[in-house]
Amino acid sequence: MWTTKLVNSLKKDQYQVINDSKTPSGRVHVGSLRGVLIHDAVYRELKNRDLPGIYLYGIDDYDPMDGLPADAPEDTRKHMGKPLCNIPAPEGSGATDMADHYISEFLAVFRELDVGARIYRMRDVYRGGLFNDAIDTILRNAHKVRAIYEDISGARRPDHWHPFQVICENCGRIGTTEVFSFDGNKVGYHCKPDLVTWARGCDHRGEISPFDGNGKLPWKLEWATKWHEFGITIEGAGKDHCTKGGSRDVAGRILKEVFGEEPPRNIPYEFFLVQGAKMSSSKGLGSSARDMADFLPPEILRFLMVRTDPKKAVNFSTDGAYMLKTFNEHDRLLDRLAQGTATEDQTTLLRATELDSSLSAYTPVSFQLITSLLQIPHVDLQASIRSRMGREPTPKENRHIDARIKAAAYWLANIASDEDKFELQETFPPIAEKNSPAQRYFIATLKDRLPSIDWEEDSLQTAIFDAARLTPLPAKTAFEAIYRLFLAKTDGPRAGALFSYLARDFVMERLNSGDDYSAISFITSVAIPQDEFLARVATDQGPASIRKIVPEIYVKTTLDASLNDPQAYKTGFCILKFLTEDKNRLFATRVIVSEFAGNEEVEAIRSEFEEKITALLMEIVGKRLEALEMDMAGMRVEVEFEEETG
Ligand SMILES: [Zn+2]
Repeated sequence: MWTTKLVNSLKKDQYQVINDSKTPSGRVHVGSLRGVLIHDAVYRELKNRDLPGIYLYGIDDYDPMDGLPADAPEDTRKHMGKPLCNIPAPEGSGATDMADHYISEFLAVFRELDVGARIYRMRDVYRGGLFNDAIDTILRNAHKVRAIYEDISGARRPDHWHPFQVICENCGRIGTTEVFSFDGNKVGYHCKPDLVTWARGCDHRGEISPFDGNGKLPWKLEWATKWHEFGITIEGAGKDHCTKGGSRDVAGRILKEVFGEEPPRNIPYEFFLVQGAKMSSSKGLGSSARDMADFLPPEILRFLMVRTDPKKAVNFSTDGAYMLKTFNEHDRLLDRLAQGTATEDQTTLLRATELDSSLSAYTPVSFQLITSLLQIPHVDLQASIRSRMGREPTPKENRHIDARIKAAAYWLANIASDEDKFELQETFPPIAEKNSPAQRYFIATLKDRLPSIDWEEDSLQTAIFDAARLTPLPAKTAFEAIYRLFLAKTDGPRAGALFSYLARDFVMERLNSGDDYSAISFITSVAIPQDEFLARVATDQGPASIRKIVPEIYVKTTLDASLNDPQAYKTGFCILKFLTEDKNRLFATRVIVSEFAGNEEVEAIRSEFEEKITALLMEIVGKRLEALEMDMAGMRVEVEFEEETG
């Protein structure tokens, strides 16, 4: 796991200060949780190894509002350029100010995800004078800062430019002021009408102390100052800040040249993308951290954010396949932990993922089971889960089950596409008429096998595969027949699971209504020519795999004909059904031995069939013919009656 490598590479005996931060300029997007949880995973790994350290999380609420939050009324625009913590909270909010309004929602998610960070607000840092010394040092070294900017970006700032932003005493804006002098006590500033495009300064000029909250450092300098003042040793940043000559480079140069210190350990991380689109909180696209935490259980949200190496993007999708895969991958780790087969990496990942990092055991209930049960009418969800677990869930398991029920219900109601949902058909659906003769034969075979099967998921799933091989039908086509019959669509949850959620009588009755098939159409769709069979026998395990041979005659006849009538067999096929075994599984292959047409006599057809059977078997097994079990007297005759015309 990536945290193991990172923590291994840290200086021993060094107190680690991990830092991350966020500007509360709108509803916080779920993508912002990636940084939060990457740092938290590192912090958890430190704690796990008893290494000393702390995780700090800063709220950059002294930053100016430089864009209108997506959910803010137009009226808010008049505050553009003011520090976010000095702008009133939206109407109806219980927060003290706009910054508090947006960050409270985000911090509530921290608590739900058990993020171990200590929160600090930049308004308290500035107003409390914590940065006073650093501000003094930076203003005295303004020439060095100008040189660094020019060196890195080529942009030359005028000699009077000073790296500081005063809160204008006249209009309260911080984003519009420029400082042009510093005499050791006070800075001279101008609130410029055209300094930035997103806010208009009031043209006020004044002189004020830069200390105790009268202003703030521009953000790259603020970043370097946090590193210096808080002794930060680890701070990752989104990849967009980590380019050569980018903001992190600038902050690093300032730290070195102004404070004579080395920048903290970086963890550059890639974006968390929702279905491929980069998420942006300012445009209100995608879902907020709050929305996502309302949906996903905390351990799944943490799992999504930390299991992937930070250098790789996470492409999150809410489609059914992705959801199941994510929950199942997480649950597999828990299973391995419970069985004592989890690797060190898997255990480390679980420690970074679970709400309870001590990893006390619990049994997960699969997301698929819950989403399926929720879609079946007349099911007692809790009772059904209890009966599957075979015991009363522990309090911890109950909390986990409740979170998954909530997630599944939210997903079904708000997110899942029609393809991901199903509706159990309480009566025979017309679409089941589309099942082919081979699919209907499969349904008939399955129906015959089910009475002897235990009514639980795995046995049912096995019976379905067995029936498919005996048709034979590719598994996907067999499942399609079931989904049409029960869900009126061509895909659905694991079919064995679906049956296990339903009453046996209901399943049997439905299978019974979907198993009519045309014998001739069935045999022409599944039977193969002798040559093909001989070629197959030569390459497979050979005759040794043959377990049983059954002769079958498929005939088409008229309704009033007697099967003993010499003229009864109008058209049809003589078939040998071979049951072969591979890895303890039986497969059926039907081989066309002869085909007849034109009102031949029954006896002639039978005797010709017997001759051809002997010839075919001789070719397959040579002298060992007597070893094969075959009963000509038990010959099966499948009849399809023609509808009478005129
Ligand atoms: Zn002003």
